[in-house]
Amino acid sequence: MADITRTLEELCAERGLRMTDQRRVIARILQQSTDHPDVEELHRRSAVVDARISIATVYRTVKLFEDAGIIERHDFREGRSRYETVPEEHHDHLIDLKTGRVIEFHSPEIEALQERIAREHGFKLVDHRLELYGVPLARDDQG
Ligand SMILES: [Zn+2]
Repeated sequence: MADITRTLEELCAERGLRMTDQRRVIARILQQSTDHPDVEELHRRSAVVDARISIATVYRTVKLFEDAGIIERHDFREGRSRYETVPEEHHDHLIDLKTGRVIEFHSPEIEALQERIAREHGFKLVDHRLELYGVPLARDDQG
């Protein structure tokens, strides 16, 4: 897991990734994003900083970062991959199917339940992914 005090750029350096100016821009944008952007969105944000950054460069760079284990890729059933820096603390995701908004949550009960299920099957849990898909409740449904 990444240490929160280290930036993506520092993590890249630790892993011996050659950092070009363009990669540095993309790393900074990933670092600042909290909304799990996809490649197109990353490209839009990167192009504001440096118009020469192509979408192909963004694709290659996120692949490089993903392979190095410093960012995580998510496929939230939208036909596009979305990215975030490897979080310091584990969280799961709730995806709003209407807007694509991603809400992060952490539930000690769910974590404990998952570990129990793995144990009951004779396993030590080492990782999991949990994605909830929903639509906002109508006012009448809330309560
Ligand atoms: Zn997340």
